[in-house]
Amino acid sequence: MSQTVVSLYLVPTPIGNLKDITLRAIDTLKSVDVILAEDTRTSGVLLKHLQLSKTLQSYHSFNEHKAIVKLVERMKKGESFALISDAGTPAISDPGYLLVREVLSAGLEVSCLPGPTAFVPALVASGLPSDRFVFEGFLPHKKGKKSRIDSLLTEARTMIFYESPHRLLKTLEQLVEALGQDRQAAVARELSKIHEETVRGTLAELIAYYQTHPLKGELVLVVAGCPEHRESREDKQAKKKAGWNTAK
Ligand code: SAM
Repeated sequence: MSQTVVSLYLVPTPIGNLKDITLRAIDTLKSVDVILAEDTRTSGVLLKHLQLSKTLQSYHSFNEHKAIVKLVERMKKGESFALISDAGTPAISDPGYLLVREVLSAGLEVSCLPGPTAFVPALVASGLPSDRFVFEGFLPHKKGKKSRIDSLLTEARTMIFYESPHRLLKTLEQLVEALGQDRQAAVARELSKIHEETVRGTLAELIAYYQTHPLKGELVLVVAGCPEHRESREDKQAKKKAGWNTAK
């Protein structure tokens, strides 16, 4: 059986703790011809830590469209690439999607390694239902923010947002206006770093907490889905056990 030739690997890198890199990620970074990096200086530090000397080529959202055509041509000629972002999994609130799309439409193979990303540990440690969730990434900064929040009014799944520390309070206030102050939520800050903390509570409790605790570092906001629209697997199982007809 012949092995598929992969032209583009997406390689997740640590979101804080440099030990969070898989053995396969290191092997892949060693084996490719070129590493595409969002910020060559940031990634240079990681490669140095891994004692890996490799050609780094800049690939960020500003040059994405222009770079793709040339990169796909090089892949067609047999060069292999790994895309890494500053932290976490490429293409998750980071550049990558457009490249993946074009490489695939050129008939070439893409592989994404499993590995670090901020939203998974934030969701899992939030204590909120993780059987169904929706990743909302960054909310728009100004225009369109309210309508994006309003579009989530009846969202039953747990919602995950990336947010910056200086915008968190305002976002929590806007969420209270839309979803009510009693909605459960969690803020996961500095995941995998020395000052990692997860604060859990209602939206109103989180506002009160962050009004008196200065917010620093990177964070993920996790918000429970609309309780009235949510029927968890456990609820369904309990109903089934009790002989309820849920087929409607
Ligand atoms: N590609 C990354 C991933 O896979 O998670 C996300 C990159 S995005 C540009 C950066 C955002 O991810 C931050 O603003 C924050 O919301 C979240 N983030 C990244 N590292 C984090 C960490 N160590 N703790 C909490 N949130 C983090």
